[in-house]
Amino acid sequence: MADATDAPDVRPDWHALAPHEALRRLDSRSDGLDPGEAARRLEAVGPNVIPRGRVEGPLKVLFRQFTSPIVLLLIASTVVAMLLGKFVDGLVVLAAVVINAIVGFIQEYRAGKAVEALSRMVPHDTTVLRGGGQSTVPSSELVPGDVVALASGDRVPADARLLVVRNLRVDEAALTGESVPVGKGAEAAPGDAVLGDRRSMAYGGTLVTSGHAKAVIVETGARTELGRISAMIEQATDLDTPLTQALDKVGKWLTVAVLVVAGALMGISLLRGYPMADAVLVAITLAVAAIPEGLPAVITIALAIGVQRMARRHAIVRKLPSVETLGSTTVICSDKTGTLTRNEMTVKALWTPGGGYTLSGVGYEPEGALAASEGEALQAPPEDALTLARAAALCSDATLVHEEGAWTISGDPTEGALVVAARKLGLDVERARGEWMRLDAIPFESEHQYMATLNRDPAGGARVLVKGAFEAVLARCDIAEAQAAEVHGAMERMAKSGLRVLAIASAPAREGATTLEPDDVEGGMTLLGLAGMMDPPRPEAIAAVQACHEAGIAVKMITGDHPATAAAIGAELGLTTGRHGAVTGREIARASDEELRALAADSDVFARVAPEDKLRLVRILQADGHVVAMTGDGVNDAPALKQANIGVAMGITGTAVSKEAADVVLTDDNFATIAAAVVEGRRIYDNLVKSLAFILPTNLGLGLILMVSVLFFPVIELDGQAVPLMPMLPAQMLWVNLIAAVALALPLAFEAPEPNVMNRPPRRPGEPILNRFVVVRTFLVAALMTAAAVAVFQWEYARFADRLGHDLAIAEAQTMAITTVVAFQIFYLLASRSARDPIRAIGWLSNPSIYVGIGVLVVLHLGFIYLPPLQRVFGSAALDPLGLAVCLGLGALILPIITFDKWLRRRAHRDPLGPTTSGAEATPGPPRARHPHPGTA
Ligand code: ATP
Repeated sequence: MADATDAPDVRPDWHALAPHEALRRLDSRSDGLDPGEAARRLEAVGPNVIPRGRVEGPLKVLFRQFTSPIVLLLIASTVVAMLLGKFVDGLVVLAAVVINAIVGFIQEYRAGKAVEALSRMVPHDTTVLRGGGQSTVPSSELVPGDVVALASGDRVPADARLLVVRNLRVDEAALTGESVPVGKGAEAAPGDAVLGDRRSMAYGGTLVTSGHAKAVIVETGARTELGRISAMIEQATDLDTPLTQALDKVGKWLTVAVLVVAGALMGISLLRGYPMADAVLVAITLAVAAIPEGLPAVITIALAIGVQRMARRHAIVRKLPSVETLGSTTVICSDKTGTLTRNEMTVKALWTPGGGYTLSGVGYEPEGALAASEGEALQAPPEDALTLARAAALCSDATLVHEEGAWTISGDPTEGALVVAARKLGLDVERARGEWMRLDAIPFESEHQYMATLNRDPAGGARVLVKGAFEAVLARCDIAEAQAAEVHGAMERMAKSGLRVLAIASAPAREGATTLEPDDVEGGMTLLGLAGMMDPPRPEAIAAVQACHEAGIAVKMITGDHPATAAAIGAELGLTTGRHGAVTGREIARASDEELRALAADSDVFARVAPEDKLRLVRILQADGHVVAMTGDGVNDAPALKQANIGVAMGITGTAVSKEAADVVLTDDNFATIAAAVVEGRRIYDNLVKSLAFILPTNLGLGLILMVSVLFFPVIELDGQAVPLMPMLPAQMLWVNLIAAVALALPLAFEAPEPNVMNRPPRRPGEPILNRFVVVRTFLVAALMTAAAVAVFQWEYARFADRLGHDLAIAEAQTMAITTVVAFQIFYLLASRSARDPIRAIGWLSNPSIYVGIGVLVVLHLGFIYLPPLQRVFGSAALDPLGLAVCLGLGALILPIITFDKWLRRRAHRDPLGPTTSGAEATPGPPRARHPHPGTA
């Protein structure tokens, strides 16, 4: 007998075999393998994963560090400096190149690995039949012979021969390029059929777009068609985002500008009588000192840290640019069930034509008592209530399980609630399911909003049972006009109190029927009654909605539920509906673009919404200038998720299709997590702005110091040689630029969110990161730094020139200048921790990594001042206590100056990161006022 696990090269034409023959060859059965056998096969054939294609190796990543224009410039500078005999300076520049490459390599390699690991964290599970039961296993553990269940939204986990098929359509674009989903069946295909015509097969990597099937896995991992073609190599992890691209552009311009200025400076220094070698060195130094080499590292690290932090808060970022977009989100469109609510349904009310009843108890505890809605306790449930509850339970797949002392449900919570309700009425659901054996079923789909089953009737014949959305079921029932008003009244009462209402109906089946088709449930049914179930909002969602409102972000709830139910739940969440209540999917479909715009601005609640309505809603909101985050879990949500600026998929309940279309996946399906991700997005952006406002002044300041010295400092005559007097040597400038800027800027990426992070409107999309705040701050701080360094140099030189002679005095004075700059940076770093608040408002100790950075710098710099080897390399000299104190004192001056600047800005409401909205503005006002239009804000 051919054994698929042992004969790697003989592949049966699986598609041409009959289902039972395929099973026989795989030594499997229609109810699957037993777990021991599955484990043995897994051992033999290996995991079901496609071997990864070419990933960039570490060498390549390292090599890339040497290809940027800036680094090439630095290398050229090294060579030139060496040729001119300036060995120390040449070596320092070379050290700069190497340090830069190492930092760049480490951060890129590790960030790449982190992002890659995160995108793989999105779980892919498969429902498999093993040992007579059904369970969910990671797709990687599937083996040939496993029998799996496929449903719409699933990604087919491996190549499989279909066994039982129900309306299955599969999107095989990944494999054949055919973009229209193809219908599938269990009948054998001709032996010579090409891949796209093998209708009896479902291939790994393709997507189930509708229907259900049972299939046996025939090939896994590298042996699947996808593995063989292996053209579908996972896309390389990309660390590019619009922000890094924009900054790259800025970097290029800056490089050109610096080169021009360096050339000019070289010309001027020659005119002023500098020796050639010194003039060239001035130009090189300017280039190295004024270009922010550490910036790319800081930015990528800030993004990577942010992505990891979001993952810890249950939001997995699949596409890096969305980290930035999150911070500018202006509208979040969210599903209701499970995201804003708990998805723990409890039936609270039943209605039958005979009367209304209430049910006590919450959750899945099958204890509870039935009472007439007038409040009178009932000894035994009346027959009509029992019939209703039994039909609802029979027409459900969920089961009630007792685990570790608590009751839980397995299956759909809506159905679980119905099963629990039947138990509360004293029905033995398992026994009823045995007596009323199910012959066939039409499963629930959001599109048609009902589920139907065909059950054998113990009294003879068979019955069709239907449960579903009120409108969907009522449309199938024969109802007398007199009764219709009563039914609608009962429904309205339940929905208005926030209950989800399901209607349940039945009809005798066709004579001898064993299968059920949609046509069988089109009409002629008898309404058994209604069940109203409660699904309370998540408490954290209520808080998160309020936080979003305070942050100027509108929240729109989009649900498949009835408008009255949706409006009631919306009100509990703090959402408002317009004059006409919740907007329905039908209204969206009928409205013109202009009308829809008005509806979207007027109401926060959208009910009975179909996936295509979602897509239109996103487009309209975007046309209005909004940045839209949209959640979705179903197959048909994929277009809306793709269209949204941030598509958010559900990690637990979402389909593979929705996860793949999404930018962010929530591992806890919780609305509050979206709000937390927005906070993270804003925080990352703020910290980048702070890093820029910290790094750029250093570069400009160093450039200015150099310019001042070339323009205004004398060239003195020593031993017959012209020696330009400079407040800082090139090697010293490089020291500051490389060590100080990077060691100090990195900790800013760990800074906590600004206190007002969620009390201000969203950032305008497209706003340049080099905004006025950064530019003004850069010039202010650079000017102060230059003034301090030059002044301290003059003072120290005057203090020692007579006593120590020129050489030693200049070393002292230069060490003073550079130490002042370092002190200045340390205190400016503290001031930069918050862009708008004084340090005490954010807490002196709230970001310990700042002090780690400062500690490292202080140790290195003390070495620079006092260690003889470093003194020889850098031309530095030991400072006396007075000198050290003067440096520290001057550096510390920046703190009160920046604090004063922040105070002025706060007073003028010119907050660098966006104005704080006061408490009064934050409480829900008229909807218009709460939806800031980014274009006009
Ligand atoms: P939301 O869009 O807020 O997440 P939802 O996803 O639960 O809500 P759907 O699943 O589309 O919305 O359900 C729409 C309607 O279909 C519900 O209001 C309910 O009346 C009905 N319904 C839901 N689940 C079932 C089910 N298992 N069987 C029959 N009818 C159902």
